[in-house]
Amino acid sequence: MPEKTEKQIVFDKVKDTPPLAVSLYTMDYNKTGSWRNVRPVIDYEKCTGCMTCWKFCPEPAIDAEKYEEDGKEKYKPVIDYEYCKGCGICWVECPVEGAIYTEEEGE
Ligand code: SF4
Ligand code: SF4
Repeated sequence: MPEKTEKQIVFDKVKDTPPLAVSLYTMDYNKTGSWRNVRPVIDYEKCTGCMTCWKFCPEPAIDAEKYEEDGKEKYKPVIDYEYCKGCGICWVECPVEGAIYTEEEGE
């Protein structure tokens, strides 16, 4: 696995920012899983349930699954591989080393 690094790109003016891909319909209609060549996997032994990955995922590929523990309502992330395009954003943004790792690479 490559070393995790942080890089911030700052644009001085709005006009310098790259154009964004815009979908006219909800991404729910566009199953992007076939694009994937990297498969993120969550290690629930390490995952703290902070849901940062869920917030940053650009696709509807991470579900927040509700469960109860010690009488408290908690959430855990569950990856839906039909929509996961393998961008790796969840892996980059996860604050816990090893809580998300990449399992497979395509051709
Ligand atoms: S960002 Fe990492 S620690 Fe937080 S919920 Fe996602 S996998 Fe778990
Ligand atoms: S690899 Fe990208 S699309 Fe797949 S779950 Fe992570 S952030 Fe979402």
